Amino acid sequence: MKSIKSKIIVFSILATLIPSFGLGMLSFQQNETMISENVTRELRALAHYASRELDLWTKEQVLVARELATSKMLIDGLSVEKRLQKNKRQVQQQPLALYLKSVQKRLDTVLELTVVDANGKFIASNADVPVFTALASDWVEQASILGELVLAPQWNTHYATAILSISVPILSGDDFVLGALIVTFNIRSVQSNLKDKVRSPPGDVLLLDQQGYVMLTSDISIPDGHPPMALSMDVIQKLLANPGEYEIFPNPLQEKTAGLAYMSETPVTIIANRSYRSIYDAWEYQRNLFIWLICFILLMVTSIAFHMSHTIAVALQKLIGATQRIVKGDLNITLTNMQHDEIGQLTRTFNQMTEQLRQNQIEISAASSAMQQKNQQLELLSVTDGLTGLYNRNKLNAIINDQLARYERNKRPFGVLMIDIDHFKTLNDGLGHVAGDEVIVAVAQKISQSIRAIDFAARYGGDEFVVILAESVIDETVKTAERIREQVAAIHCGDEDNNFRVTLSIGAIQSEPQDTSLTILLSRVDGALYEAKRAGRDQVVSIKPGWCTI
Ligand code: GH3
Ligand code: MG
Repeated sequence: MKSIKSKIIVFSILATLIPSFGLGMLSFQQNETMISENVTRELRALAHYASRELDLWTKEQVLVARELATSKMLIDGLSVEKRLQKNKRQVQQQPLALYLKSVQKRLDTVLELTVVDANGKFIASNADVPVFTALASDWVEQASILGELVLAPQWNTHYATAILSISVPILSGDDFVLGALIVTFNIRSVQSNLKDKVRSPPGDVLLLDQQGYVMLTSDISIPDGHPPMALSMDVIQKLLANPGEYEIFPNPLQEKTAGLAYMSETPVTIIANRSYRSIYDAWEYQRNLFIWLICFILLMVTSIAFHMSHTIAVALQKLIGATQRIVKGDLNITLTNMQHDEIGQLTRTFNQMTEQLRQNQIEISAASSAMQQKNQQLELLSVTDGLTGLYNRNKLNAIINDQLARYERNKRPFGVLMIDIDHFKTLNDGLGHVAGDEVIVAVAQKISQSIRAIDFAARYGGDEFVVILAESVIDETVKTAERIREQVAAIHCGDEDNNFRVTLSIGAIQSEPQDTSLTILLSRVDGALYEAKRAGRDQVVSIKPGWCTI
């Protein structure tokens, strides 16, 4: 996160993800709520329709049973039976069973017709092995109040279908309860009515018995002879706890199902259910499409952010590198950037700044070298004599001190000459100061020409000069002095009337251990010069080593 590049990329990803996911989640939550409400409404409508149809069908079957119970054949059969002795009952049962068989054959929905007497004892049935339904001990009272008893539907393994038994009283002409007719109907006959193929919303209807077995479904037929499919009791309890509200559960075929329970007048539980996939497939498809879209947008945004940040980072890196080179003093830099944005503008400004710095540097270095020259000139002037160009007195002092220090270190002596022009005052007076200056300059030139490059010549003052001969003993020093004297002797000045011969008096010494200071050294050589003057001028007088003239 330290670089601009990573900051831009992270910001772009967050700026894409947060609003997209926020809005997406909100929208999908709203969609889910809408879908959930729609599913609840549709499942309720489905269950309600099935319940109404089942109740109608039950009422129709009650009417059929009532109609059958009013059959004269049954009333007569039961009346006679009541009067007959116990041993003659077998004779009456036979025609009653035959009658019941003939009736059952005529009615498609009826599986079985069984007649019991007022005590609930079996009298006759169309079936050889009837589904005997023991009636409650107070069934006569109930029958006189309700008219009929609708028994809870249940799965019957003998008929391999769900059955609904309706018990209706058989009354004599004076409304005396002779017995009951128990009509067992095949519930499968209501299957086609459970759903309206056109108007009903999508989904299945299941009819459960009180044990939770599936007795009938609106669409899938339960195979003959197979035990009925059952929902788990947990699921049923959950559904019954909130009738009308749907739950998600696995159906007997292990498919995820959304279903709700509905109670009808007929004692069965109606479950309206629908495949989870059919409800949420479209929603999941949309959600997956949305996720792919977000991924695609994210990829696009990240690529653009990467490209942008890369462009900025590369340009900045170039600028940083160029700035570092400038810091190190390299101004030969020109950045190339064809962009027309702020980066391009910055690069162009940077190039202008570098160009300006280059110009400034050229001007500064020109001014610096000029100043250096001036300094050198000043330095030269500060150490040279204005008239002769030889070293001046100050520089001479420094040279002598340096030579004394060297001599102290290496014990190699150096030679010193003190030179004075003879009768210079007279020359000045005779030829004038200008001519006198020219003579001083000419003598200085002869001195310079007569010494080595490692030697030093200085104007000591007026018509006096001092020469320092590096690493020279007295003999070499005297030789040099003689050479100078001879050279100067060649100088002629004046005219025919005033003809002057320039001569020099020279004192010569070599450095001695006693020369511990500049003053001592100069006074010693001055002493030698004095001796030369006193001895008649135009000569070299040297002080041999070990001598002391002070
Ligand atoms: P001596 O032989 O004893 O040296 O006699 P001198 O006449 O040379 O005496 P001294 O050396 O004492 O005199 C030096 C003269 O040099 C005195 C002064 O007028 C003259 N002088 C000093 N500096 C200059 C200068 O720069 N130019 C000229 N033309 N004359 C100078
Ligand atoms: Mg003189």
